[in-house]
Amino acid sequence: MSKDICQNLDSLQQRISNACEKAGRNPDEITLVAVSKMKPLSNIKEAFGCGQLHFGENRAKELQEKMGEYGEEEIQWHMVGNLQTNKIKYIVDRVNWIHSISKSKYLREIEKRASRIDRVVNTLVQINISGEDQKSGCEAEQLPEILEYAQGLDHVRIHGLMGMASFVDPDEVEQVRPQFAMLRKLRDEHRKYETENVSLDELSMGMTNDMEVAIEEGSTMLRVGRAIFGERNYT
Ligand SMILES: *Cc1c(COP(=O)(O)O)cnc(C)c1O
Repeated sequence: MSKDICQNLDSLQQRISNACEKAGRNPDEITLVAVSKMKPLSNIKEAFGCGQLHFGENRAKELQEKMGEYGEEEIQWHMVGNLQTNKIKYIVDRVNWIHSISKSKYLREIEKRASRIDRVVNTLVQINISGEDQKSGCEAEQLPEILEYAQGLDHVRIHGLMGMASFVDPDEVEQVRPQFAMLRKLRDEHRKYETENVSLDELSMGMTNDMEVAIEEGSTMLRVGRAIFGERNYT
């Protein structure tokens, strides 16, 4: 699929504006993370060239390689995929956001490594909102423990929650609304855990198929791949 990436970004911004207008929201409240997983560096360069600043990847090694191609501060890099303790070392010196904290042991590992280089890493706690076993994220009941653990850390900040809805056909996207609403409700219910380095202002939810519903339900970070870079070829 060869499409003009800048044109895709324009159409996407239009989709975001329309959804915001419908929801009575300001598009400035929403950060668009371009998910470039499995896509070549040339695609990232093209998107960067037309003003896209936030990029997301779902594998630590791939993220590490792509981050290495850009100077510090040029791009904001987001890790959106599953974490593994032994892979955190590949990304911690450069990644700006990690969306997929599902256990306090990941926070401990990030803190350990970020403290050595005096960095602060921005994170989100991923909740399993779809209820499907194969989807990652922690259960809602684990959230207090993770937030309390984070309160004691100096090199990790929590900014909010992330959720991935069930994968449904584009015309059935209303089905995922309760999952996004649940994430927001969970956020509202845990505001009491907010401290200097724990805030719950951000909601990372919404992808190519379900971003309009996510915006209506309060998303502040969209993670969008296919609408920008086209379909991914799985080999
Ligand atoms: C791939 C991926 C996305 C983007 O999905 P699209 O359907 O391509 O928009 C968002 N979030 C995560 C965690 C992903 O792995």
